[in-house]
Amino acid sequence: MIQSVGYAAKSVAASLERFEFERRDVRPDDVVVEIAYSGICHSDIHQVRDEWGGAIFPMVPGHEIVGYVTAVGSAVTKFKVGDLAGVGVMVDSCKVCSNCEADEEAYCEKGFVGTYNSKDYEGVLTRGGYSNNIVVAERYVHTISKKLEPKLAAVAPLLCAGITTYSPLRHWKIGPGKKVGIVGLGGLGHMGLKFAHSFGAHVVLFTTSAGKEADALRLGADEVVISKDAEAMAKYKGSLDFILDCVSAPHDINLYLSLLRLDGTVCLVGLPETPMEVASFSTVVNRRSLAGSMIGGMKETQEMLDYCAENDIVSEIELTTVGELDTAYDRVVKSDVKYRFVIDMKSLNA
Ligand code: NAP
Ligand code: ZN
Repeated sequence: MIQSVGYAAKSVAASLERFEFERRDVRPDDVVVEIAYSGICHSDIHQVRDEWGGAIFPMVPGHEIVGYVTAVGSAVTKFKVGDLAGVGVMVDSCKVCSNCEADEEAYCEKGFVGTYNSKDYEGVLTRGGYSNNIVVAERYVHTISKKLEPKLAAVAPLLCAGITTYSPLRHWKIGPGKKVGIVGLGGLGHMGLKFAHSFGAHVVLFTTSAGKEADALRLGADEVVISKDAEAMAKYKGSLDFILDCVSAPHDINLYLSLLRLDGTVCLVGLPETPMEVASFSTVVNRRSLAGSMIGGMKETQEMLDYCAENDIVSEIELTTVGELDTAYDRVVKSDVKYRFVIDMKSLNA
């Protein structure tokens, strides 16, 4: 077995603490990645606090992982020792269902194996990226262009926040001539903003935080609306083609549906823990759709990473340490992160 050390929540909502554990021996198709940086996704907090149910402790969170390959199995072809590598939200899927065959592993009919807080198909609990290393089959490991190496810490969030926003914007063919709303300027929202702008859409950023206006404009918004201002919101009624809702907490989805024009779509990527109410008129008027989207498949995640390398897109980050996780979590929950915390895994040795 491979010795690992990381930070784990030992029980619900507990502070994360140092935790030693073992990872599996390298199989022929496995890659061992020494983790350099690990992003903090709001999903980590939802799960550590068991807001979605199904939490298994001790839990080592983390599914925005970048680092260097330190060992490869005998059948590995894509990686060699020393290569940059990235691991995102999943580490396995059935590979044979129609969705896996269509490169849509996020919708694997058997259910994909999550990078942490998940049981693999042999029943072993997975442990994530707040740790020094990870062992993953190469099909679920991404290559990272050397071009991105100087900004490696800011690449980590692409593995979840990046693909989760890139995928729906591509699926709904966002580009020039489309008026797109992004709701919530957090980890996902700021990546959605960067991608929608890069794809050529006209982007309206909706935020509850007046203090984020200047940043939103700098990151690519054409317009910024404070969503608590009813008068400002009313001006956008019936005007948007597509809205990507990146909000982590319960909020009124009808308000955003009302902003869609004919045949427009609100796509949820945010996952608040409580159900939302949708008024019938919210969708019937203007033949509107309410949809959702889950991360993205392996092929599309690689496409997104390559797009980022070509177009110089990375996350806006605040670097943090394993000793400061409580503060980081509190600031994420207060919508105070600018715009993604990334843990420097060297801090495990401090
Ligand atoms: P985050 O960094 O905390 O950002 C969430 C943003 O939502 C905040 O910055 C804030 O933006 C806004 N917000 C927070 N509380 C709000 C409230 N009460 N009312 C209105 N707006 C509020 O979180 P994240 O890491 O981007 O994740 C966002 C959500 O996506 C989480 O629920 C996460 O679990 C989920 N997620 C889903 C997927 C998927 O595959 N679908 C993947 C990853 C994450 P403003 O300050 O601008 O208002
Ligand atoms: Zn995530």
